[in-house]
Amino acid sequence: MERFLITGGCGFIGSHLAEELINQGKTVFVIDDLSTGRLKNISTLLDNPKFFLFIDTILNEYILEELIKKVDFVFHLAAIVGVKKVIENPIESILVNIEGTCNVLKLCAKYKKRILITSTSEIYGKNLNVPFNEEADIVIGSTKKKRWSYACAKAIDEFLAFAFQEEFGLPVIIVRLFNTVGPRQTDRYGMVIPRFVKQALTGQPITVFGDGEQSRCFIHVKDVVEIILKLIYKDESYGEVFNIGSENEIKIKDLALLIKEITKSESEIKFINPENIYKKGFEDMMKRIPDLSKIKKIVDFHLNYSIKDIIADVVTYYKTDFLCVNDLII
Ligand code: UDP
Repeated sequence: MERFLITGGCGFIGSHLAEELINQGKTVFVIDDLSTGRLKNISTLLDNPKFFLFIDTILNEYILEELIKKVDFVFHLAAIVGVKKVIENPIESILVNIEGTCNVLKLCAKYKKRILITSTSEIYGKNLNVPFNEEADIVIGSTKKKRWSYACAKAIDEFLAFAFQEEFGLPVIIVRLFNTVGPRQTDRYGMVIPRFVKQALTGQPITVFGDGEQSRCFIHVKDVVEIILKLIYKDESYGEVFNIGSENEIKIKDLALLIKEITKSESEIKFINPENIYKKGFEDMMKRIPDLSKIKKIVDFHLNYSIKDIIADVVTYYKTDFLCVNDLII
């Protein structure tokens, strides 16, 4: 496979994937409407003769069709993500996340193109039986709690993907990404590590939601890219859904302490009610741990980055990146 399309290729994960494919000498087409992605994320690729950028939405079926025809493989990453963004823009996020994915699947089926779509650990919802196995029940909160619209939209995407696979023989892989972090992830949509790092670097209070006893397992974006690029070359991956994440759990209050220590910050750690920040519609999960036994049977699965490495990389990014420094001032 030589020619790849990445929907959402200017985003946090998409841009790292584009960079790696270009490093491997592949040709990369990107479609991104820059709604959450940034040109800055792919600025080093723009002069590369094997990199082609189309600033447009995946709701534009015409351009999408032209691009899908050209490539051997499609990575579908374009989506509205982040708890804050989803709560604040529910209509846009539901529509883009379902209709956009449907467009991509339909066209990949029409041209018989291989595709990987990114889903989310959010899909397990309030299920308490960690670690989450891919076959686990989906336990979603009330439709009055806007956060759950994201999990439901992604669940519909998965149903659609399997339906296209069954009815049209679409070769599709679904990956459910667990808390993925690294350089270029913005704090704007609520993700905890960029938020805490920015708060720590600017001397603002580090805002731990609730009592901070809730935990997450964080994985470096470069590890995710490496694993995805192993998965697509295995025939057994197609028609399947896989968890991708780290199994190393950390409580959010300990994460705050670690970030304070690594940044040598004087910031106070403040325990707050998240509904004071988000509009109503927030509901938290206590734990999110992936069961990785399925993916470990298919690829050699190991992580290169610890939680300290991840934080250090995010800190470096926020300290050195010019526009981020501007963000810090704003
Ligand atoms: N969180 C927090 N303070 C913040 C942002 C997030 O304590 O300023 C917590 C949040 O309540 C959750 C965890 O950090 O328990 C991870 O949040 P994020 O939005 O990054 O990911 P998700 O909840 O989707 O796993």
